Amino acid sequence: MGAFFSPDLPRNWEVTLKEEIRKKILAKREVYPNWEEDSLKVLKNLLTLSWLYDYNVFMLYYPHRKEVDTKPIINHLLNISKIVLLPKVKGPDILPIQIHDLENLYIGYGGIKEPRGDVYEGKIDVVIVPAVAFDMHGYRLGYGKGYYDRFLPKIEPVIKVGLAFDFQILDKIPHDLHDVKMDYIITPTQIYKTKKEDQK
Ligand code: ADP
Ligand code: MG
Repeated sequence: MGAFFSPDLPRNWEVTLKEEIRKKILAKREVYPNWEEDSLKVLKNLLTLSWLYDYNVFMLYYPHRKEVDTKPIINHLLNISKIVLLPKVKGPDILPIQIHDLENLYIGYGGIKEPRGDVYEGKIDVVIVPAVAFDMHGYRLGYGKGYYDRFLPKIEPVIKVGLAFDFQILDKIPHDLHDVKMDYIITPTQIYKTKKEDQK
């Protein structure tokens, strides 16, 4: 009872806590020296998930700052003739747009590269999600705007895969009802499967 009603905790203590974690992890990621080689290890681990090849439509993110570099993954998927989508931010929404290469991208919201073109209306099979941090249960801490929390429920059912460096995995992340859980989290050294065993 004590902690819950403590006058020391602000009413929105979960938000404050999320903000503290964001600051710490982002500062660490900014100076992380191994991001290039570790990104390739994430790619290697991702590609051990053989069921990936059963699917055709993949939504990824374009790497911003020191996020796990998805460019090699995007190129690999394009090379094996998968449909690849990238997000375009429009107002409060993420829109999925098909790309055919990494050339024709434009600086969009937050300085992040994004495609132009028609919104992809077909079914999305797998979505690769960036984050500031994840916990082992699949909860995700994003950048604080809730973009993926609003977007992911609209494209369900979809397999949600988070990519992160190992220092971005925390024991527990504060979460609200609106926070969407990942099914897999891939790091340079781990593959966390957070879904029930009988599901892919
Ligand atoms: P992030 O997921 O980017 O770390 P939060 O989960 O803290 O950020 O969400 C940021 C804001 O977005 C919150 O104030 C929340 O109210 C809003 N939000 C998140 N998901 C939804 C949703 N499904 N519908 C409406 N607002 C949402
Ligand atoms: Mg959230």
